[in-house]
Amino acid sequence: MTFLGAAQCVTGSMHLVEIGSQRLLLDCGLVRGHRDEVRYRNTSFPFDPVTLDAVIISHAHIDHCGNLPNLVRQGFRGPIYCTPATRDLAAIMLADAAEEGPKKDDDFLAYPSSLMNWVPIPYEHDFAISDNVQLRFVDAGHILGSAITVLTFRHAGRTYRVTFTGDLGRRGVPFLRPPSPVPAADLILCESTYGGRRHDTLEMMAAKLSKVVRGTLERGGKVLVPAFSLGRTQVVLHFLQRWMRDGILPRLPIYVDSPLAAHIAAVYQSYGDAFEHLPAAGLPPVHYFRSPEEAREVSMLPEPCVLVASGGMCEGGRIMAHLRLHLDDPRCSIVLVSYQAPHSLGAQLLQLRPTVRFHGRTWNKWAEVVSISGFSGHADHEDFLALLGPALGATGKIRLVHGEPPQAAALAADLQKMGFPDVAVPCREEHVMVA
Ligand SMILES: [Zn+2]
Repeated sequence: MTFLGAAQCVTGSMHLVEIGSQRLLLDCGLVRGHRDEVRYRNTSFPFDPVTLDAVIISHAHIDHCGNLPNLVRQGFRGPIYCTPATRDLAAIMLADAAEEGPKKDDDFLAYPSSLMNWVPIPYEHDFAISDNVQLRFVDAGHILGSAITVLTFRHAGRTYRVTFTGDLGRRGVPFLRPPSPVPAADLILCESTYGGRRHDTLEMMAAKLSKVVRGTLERGGKVLVPAFSLGRTQVVLHFLQRWMRDGILPRLPIYVDSPLAAHIAAVYQSYGDAFEHLPAAGLPPVHYFRSPEEAREVSMLPEPCVLVASGGMCEGGRIMAHLRLHLDDPRCSIVLVSYQAPHSLGAQLLQLRPTVRFHGRTWNKWAEVVSISGFSGHADHEDFLALLGPALGATGKIRLVHGEPPQAAALAADLQKMGFPDVAVPCREEHVMVA
């Protein structure tokens, strides 16, 4: 196994597995970051794409599948294995990235996902991808379709197993089914985004949100919720609806300003059995705006409402138009539900300062700004220990990827304490041998 991306960072997930003469790629994520380096990393693969036998995609977030167009343009023609929901969501995400790409990252090259060789495999099915290698997906509980990949193969008369978690979901937030325990393996490749961290519990999330929504309603303002369109938006909407129905939140109109989220909602609806069973009766409706004009019209109405808009870190997306209208309105509030990168506008909003700068001018920051961590789609420290615990005793090596160094180190330390014999945080381009 060679770690080619998301090693000591959280972007551009990509790992190469070599089994005999077979070469499999786990994830093909787009790298985000500084322009020149990013363009080079996304367009120059450290292997010849033509020589790959197959690609396995853990889930449809762009940092896990967004570089497939480059791979196919450079000659990869083999099968792309993923769950059926991941295939459906990836088609939407890749089309959206292609549309936004020329504005956002000029390294993103479009390639129609309909021309890619997708092979959907449902959860808990063994599938022979070659004479010697079996593939099985297990529910990772992170977003719809997200999977833990389990590869089983024989070498020199022994059977070996490699498990790749992709992104793992959290327990105790009943919306998607909870993540499955990580299957034991000779090598487990595990994410570590929130190692050493603890998310708010569901009760804390409800209490925090209730306080800010009630306060905003009393002042006659609007609640703005910037959220990433795939994953976060669906979880936030689910709990807004449920808590309004149950009287935990006051009943307010719920609007969504994200054409991408509207497309994703249709896919989520078509996979009803992926969700915990909850009665839908009495849930307040959600209205998706059809155009920026409609969004602006509603945003300027005097009535209080909850408005969820694309742009988790307020670095772009539909949320920007609403921030321009309401950031200097002391009646309004902004609820941040995503990780805020250090220099993002979202991080600036959280600082105790009277003003922020964006779109070339200084804005008064008179709206209330609140951060609620629990809507994360990622496992926290306790979740990792619980999900990996059952693999203790039957697991050889664990390698932690998809985390900044302090988070990965915090998780590695506790896994070693639990008794896992060989835990490490690899650098990019480092190799590990399984057999
Ligand atoms: Zn993800």
